[in-house]
Amino acid sequence: MQMDSGLGMTRREFLRASAAFAALPGLGALAGTGGARRRRWWKGNLHAHTFWSDGKAFPEEAIEWYRSRGWNFLGLSDHNVFQDDPDRWVGVIGDDEKDAKPEWAASRPHRYCYNVRRRYFDEYAKAFPSAVTRVAADGRIEARLSTFGELSARFNEPGRFLLVPDVEATRSVEYADGRYHQLHMNYVNVPELLPSFAAQGFRRTLKDKPLPEFLAEHARETAELARKHGCKPLFILNHPVWTWYDVGPEVLIDVPEVRFFEVCNGGSPYAPADGLPADGLDTDRFWDVVNAFRARRGQPLVYGVGTDDTHNYRGEKVNMCIPGNAWSLVRAESLDADSLMDAMERGDFVACEGLDVEDVVFDRSAGRLEVAVGPGNAPRTVRFIVSKRDFAETPVGRMTVRPARHSDVMRYQRDIRIYDAKIGVAAKTVEIPAGEAARVSYELADDDLYVRARVEEKGATVSTAHLHPKGLRCAWTQPYRAS
Ligand SMILES: [Zn+2]
Ligand SMILES: [Zn+2]
Repeated sequence: MQMDSGLGMTRREFLRASAAFAALPGLGALAGTGGARRRRWWKGNLHAHTFWSDGKAFPEEAIEWYRSRGWNFLGLSDHNVFQDDPDRWVGVIGDDEKDAKPEWAASRPHRYCYNVRRRYFDEYAKAFPSAVTRVAADGRIEARLSTFGELSARFNEPGRFLLVPDVEATRSVEYADGRYHQLHMNYVNVPELLPSFAAQGFRRTLKDKPLPEFLAEHARETAELARKHGCKPLFILNHPVWTWYDVGPEVLIDVPEVRFFEVCNGGSPYAPADGLPADGLDTDRFWDVVNAFRARRGQPLVYGVGTDDTHNYRGEKVNMCIPGNAWSLVRAESLDADSLMDAMERGDFVACEGLDVEDVVFDRSAGRLEVAVGPGNAPRTVRFIVSKRDFAETPVGRMTVRPARHSDVMRYQRDIRIYDAKIGVAAKTVEIPAGEAARVSYELADDDLYVRARVEEKGATVSTAHLHPKGLRCAWTQPYRAS
């Protein structure tokens, strides 16, 4: 992680202390506000799990991990549940005891975790003596899971830390011809479970409706629910290119109302060990294919979010789903959910995997993207990536992949379309030596549809099970178009 701001303080101190930094004319220019208002970067993770679903931590522990390390906002995006039930208990079982679903759970099909191992409970009860427990009729200890409201009241601190409502809507989709997909979508800042999940329960398998239709339905349902609550939602397509979570870019091209996807999902046991084939769809390629089509059609561009998708908080499985690998830096006036959502909606944020940037400015009238990086310990590379106006929409090739792992759920071959090389072109590459700060820029050419930048630094990342370039820390700006 690049923590040195070059000013003799950590990046966090730098971000907190520097009013001058906050007043920089950043993407406010993009938003047409001239950047006059004071904005600063807030660091957060919008994808994490707890015992409310399949994460291996009580929510207090998950929050404390991030809060104590300087993250400013966090979404606990448990699968198909919003943490609002004050009567949700988990049984404490022995470390070697069989993890059986209790009888009462039968009537609650969308619930995920029923029992917690003794060693996890002991750690929790020690760190949080306020833990609420009871003894069940069979003598077993049960622990209550704190609700979103209780957690917010306990941990939120103005200008320092904010818990935002978050749910990972999780669908399994199986088709008559044997194709199987997982469609995972995070919706943020809407404090309720989508009615279709409440009605249909968890792990319902839906058949024979095209994936774009499923995706659009969930986006619409989220928008309706947000309207009911009077809040501003964010709807994110998660980890689309995991091996068996096969959501091709074509799906997202066809659903322009979806504006966000995870360009960086911090870890997954489902990511293939060797990555995707060289010409295949890594997340950068996926992103450019979607945005080339979107830009040509005059539709909103997709923005990329960086998240951890945390499941394991204790370092016991270092290669999967662990905290601190990826985050988003969001530039907003204040640390409240609506301001953060507004900022992300206008593209004023950066997705990061182990690497931050100091500043991003897009001058819309000039079509110039500028990225500032601080002095790092290693050389950095800034790539300005564009797609060309005259790209061909017809795929130039096809590739069939049959991933070796997870063959039990991988019941079909995956067909990948290969697109024109005029999509996702590195139009300019700048090398920045170690120890030097730099501000570099690229001006859109007439035949560029948009520009985005990726900053890279050689070095290890916290998690290794992901679909990003191996051995590289990265920061991704959003794609921008000239006015
Ligand atoms: Zn997921
Ligand atoms: Zn997840």
